[in-house]
Amino acid sequence: MDKASNRASQANEFSEISFEPLSRCELCQSSSFRSIGSYDLKGIVLRYTLCEQCGFVQMNPVTSEASMNLFYQKEYWRNISKGSLGRVQRKQIYRARQIINFTTERLKKMDSDVVRVLEIGSSFGNTLEMVGGVISSLGKKTVLYGIEPNEAIAKDGVSVYKQIKLIGRSYRDLDKIHEIYDFIILSHVLEHLRDPVGVLRLIREKLASAGFMYIEVPNFYGHQSYHIYHVSCFTPISLKSALANADLSGEVFAYGGNRQFPKFIGVIAYKQQGKGSVGQYSVAVAKGSGDPRQVIERRAAFERYLASKRKTNFLSRIFRKFGGKFLPKF
Ligand SMILES: [Zn+2]
Repeated sequence: MDKASNRASQANEFSEISFEPLSRCELCQSSSFRSIGSYDLKGIVLRYTLCEQCGFVQMNPVTSEASMNLFYQKEYWRNISKGSLGRVQRKQIYRARQIINFTTERLKKMDSDVVRVLEIGSSFGNTLEMVGGVISSLGKKTVLYGIEPNEAIAKDGVSVYKQIKLIGRSYRDLDKIHEIYDFIILSHVLEHLRDPVGVLRLIREKLASAGFMYIEVPNFYGHQSYHIYHVSCFTPISLKSALANADLSGEVFAYGGNRQFPKFIGVIAYKQQGKGSVGQYSVAVAKGSGDPRQVIERRAAFERYLASKRKTNFLSRIFRKFGGKFLPKF
């Protein structure tokens, strides 16, 4: 397919996505929203609102689940790779190295001789393969499991990395699986989902009691974030609230990009022993977590930084192109 027709077909694919208004904040159940930003995707305007009670930012109206499921099965990787799967794989290998940096110490401390690793959104299998390698180098056995919605990618992953057991297409498939895992990876997945708390609760059920999860998302204070795939935009506080609502604990940390505006936030999450029942989650965290004014201010600071960077880049491009002409000649 040539470039022009490829672009045209992508525009059509996006226009087939349907949207619906959010009735309640997925973190605190408030129905009070304030518009915070928008993004124009080839004529389709994506709008984002902030919850006036807890500061959580979500796409609103949000992409309907049915259309997104279809999209992830068929189109996602083709769109995101822009024709170069190698580029996507390089990015995933970079992220896998970070995951290994952040988790190797925990893996060393694990008592069990066999570490069952599950990655949700396992794509090509690079991350699982690399993590599996590290576990083997620690003298432990490992079993690698993946969940991946995209048919073509999953097939590639399995043929390239034969040791991965593909157990489903969606995190929802976990409902039917009666296995538990020692290490669950959820890297750049949660921002694609509308109901992060529900997803985390389901995944928590599959985590061994001594196990842990690695979760990473873009940081709303350091990542452009508005995008057709990004339904939920996390700040460190809203990520922490989502975890607490799902009865998980862990310290949120940030890394990547600019020191002042780190691009990613991550957390190593554990099950909290003997804490609370389902009924009390959301209300407890809603109060006093995340001040909406602070979210607006910190996002505005990041957008000013982005604008100044664009200006500097623009000026340096102009200088590189024309600057030489105006330099004095000797
Ligand atoms: Zn809220």
